[in-house]
Amino acid sequence: MVSYEDIEMLKAYAPQGDGWVLSLYLDVDQSKASNRKRGFETVAQNLLRDVERGVDERAREEFERSRARLLRFIRSYEPKKKSLVVFCDARHDFWWDRDLPVPMPSVARFENVPYLRPLIEALDEYERYGVVLMDKEKARLFTVYMGEIQEHEAVFDDVPRRTVTTSMDRLWSQKNLQRHHDAHVHWHAVHVAERLRELVERYRFDRLIVGGTVEAVGELMRVLPKRLSERVAGTISLPVTAPASEVLAEAIRVEEQVERQAELQMVDALLTAAAKGDRAVVGPMATLEALNAGRVWRLVYAGHCTLTGSACTQCGALFWEPQRATCWYCGGTLEAVPGFLNRVLERVLALGGSVEEVRGPAAERLEAAGGIGAFLRY
Ligand SMILES: [Zn+2]
Repeated sequence: MVSYEDIEMLKAYAPQGDGWVLSLYLDVDQSKASNRKRGFETVAQNLLRDVERGVDERAREEFERSRARLLRFIRSYEPKKKSLVVFCDARHDFWWDRDLPVPMPSVARFENVPYLRPLIEALDEYERYGVVLMDKEKARLFTVYMGEIQEHEAVFDDVPRRTVTTSMDRLWSQKNLQRHHDAHVHWHAVHVAERLRELVERYRFDRLIVGGTVEAVGELMRVLPKRLSERVAGTISLPVTAPASEVLAEAIRVEEQVERQAELQMVDALLTAAAKGDRAVVGPMATLEALNAGRVWRLVYAGHCTLTGSACTQCGALFWEPQRATCWYCGGTLEAVPGFLNRVLERVLALGGSVEEVRGPAAERLEAAGGIGAFLRY
């Protein structure tokens, strides 16, 4: 989990004197064939070799120290999530690493400060979910963020029995009891809605997942204010006593459905806009041309996209494989780029754009159009 404090600390980190930080983002997603059998190790070595080329002579020794430490770490590293992020300044014994449940393009940098942009963007983009699990007397509240769950203080409201069990209860007619019971269910739902309102103020979650007994959830939905009911993204079927790990697993399932749906909408919007010529392109050729012109605002690519290509040795322009042998901007010679897609993603980020990986049906739809496309700035 990356906290707000982590980011503040990293932002403030500047090595004393003329120090350097080696930053590495590594796609370690084990659902990708290329990452199995520790393929990510090779990617890391290649990225660091690319970085080495640009290292200033005076910083070479520092680079070597940080690189050695980083590679040592990666050799014994076991992937847990989708991406690994490391910032290392071996000379000042500075080290920060996290596993993130979000896909991130593999990038390495050696600069005077940690390269934070991809991390900050991923955090901004990731949605926070609220989860409420309730029956008629108890409600448990959770927030889920980046694959982790946090439980908050529960809400309790005692409900009187619906049936007559003691002599005291005979004072109540069955009808009164029912009315009394319904009123309790109602007030309990109102309390829960109040707590949810506080929770959304504090944690700013974008979406809400509800679960529990039909009666309790139904009443909650009736009393939930519009700005909360609009955020309901799905329901889960779990007893109110379910362990947090089960709540998390169910919340992630809903989250993935929501994401897949959003990705489908994004790809459809991309294909429609590209067909109309409305500030969007699809296919490797058109996308790279737009990228070379600095027009890419948001790049969209299929998770299994295997784009190959080359870069101009003179001006750095990027070309898709079947394109010609010399740069059509400056006539320079082209050189094949290993891990070409990563180079493309890095270029987009460097130009202030954003990147979106899509999976599932959205990826299939995009693959039919070349596996890559972009929304353009103009
Ligand atoms: Zn060129």
